[in-house]
Amino acid sequence: MLFLERIYKAPNSVAAEDKPTFYAVLLGGWTGLLVHICFFFLFVWQDVELMVNVNIFSILAWSWYLYLAYKSKWSDAIYIACAEISIHAVFVVSALGTQYGFQFYLISIACLLVVNPSIKVMSGWVLSLFCLFLFAGLYVIFPSATEQVIFEDHVLLIFVMCFLSATFPIVIGIMIMKREFVLQQEALQRLANHDMLTDLHNRRFFYTYLNERHAQAKEKNRSFFLAIADIDKFKMVNDVHGHSLGDDVLVVVSNRLTQLLSKSDNIARWGGEEFMFYLDSDDLKSAFEKLDYLRASICAERFTRKRLNITMSFGLVEVTPNLSVDEAIKIADEYLYTAKSEGRNRVISDSFEQKP
Ligand code: GH3
Ligand code: MG
Ligand code: MG
Repeated sequence: MLFLERIYKAPNSVAAEDKPTFYAVLLGGWTGLLVHICFFFLFVWQDVELMVNVNIFSILAWSWYLYLAYKSKWSDAIYIACAEISIHAVFVVSALGTQYGFQFYLISIACLLVVNPSIKVMSGWVLSLFCLFLFAGLYVIFPSATEQVIFEDHVLLIFVMCFLSATFPIVIGIMIMKREFVLQQEALQRLANHDMLTDLHNRRFFYTYLNERHAQAKEKNRSFFLAIADIDKFKMVNDVHGHSLGDDVLVVVSNRLTQLLSKSDNIARWGGEEFMFYLDSDDLKSAFEKLDYLRASICAERFTRKRLNITMSFGLVEVTPNLSVDEAIKIADEYLYTAKSEGRNRVISDSFEQKP
């Protein structure tokens, strides 16, 4: 979910990590209100009647913004803020000219309109372009400073403050979006590569991974080992104890297998109750012994609250540089089939067979 969509939620449902920004948005509303109250008194003091009236409108608009914000109507509040800031900018420029830099707020609004997820893409574009044309138009309509100059000695300072406070939110906004983009990329990548139930790598990821490993091994003229494992009589677990407990078994068996493997090895959920292993062993014998240790460990444990006894069958193959990954998988599958037909709970490979 986009960040802006997340912060539009009711305060009690805002995620903990978004709370600082959520309160920053609220703070923005309070700042808007207080700034315009100050402006109101300033223009009363300077006797600029138009700006007194405009700031009364702004104070009402920011009060409305805060009312909507506290009611969690964030989308409506943002519309009010956009309208107030644009209208205020136009009136200030019409009264005081462009030398104070109030027109730069139109650029902030143009950016906010484009990224706001609650506005349709087309409407966002149109409103945003309108703000940019208005920005340029203000220079055309008010080409030079008007007669009306207040705080003559501080024009540059006010310009710099307006410019910075209008452009700073754009930079912050882009930073938030970048962070959100990176987090989403990572989340998507994780979703695409992992199995939802067991959190192991999924078949799509692992097939590519095996081919990459194969290419590397080929370059070094080395072998690696690949094995397919399948939980024995798993249908019975589902039939007797229910599908949900079957799921629990898959999760705990996956966790156990991951714990038992060494760091240089890897595992994926290949299909329903089937697992694929990449083993970085020195020779077939040590790969075989590693798998048989897994087999014996799983067999010796009792899983879930029902204390179920689970066994697994394995087909192991050495992937030499001349053998393709597809061919190796096919051979491992055949060995797994042999393990099943010979009584299950065993590892079968090119030259070894270990029975329990
Ligand atoms: P075998 O020893 O020959 O492998 O017998 P089996 O019962 O394990 O094999 P079979 O292919 O007949 O059944 C596999 C079962 O695995 C059937 C299916 O419902 C179950 N299964 C596959 N994926 C899942 C899953 O994600 N969750 C649960 N609970 N069961 C699953
Ligand atoms: Mg099975
Ligand atoms: Mg199966």
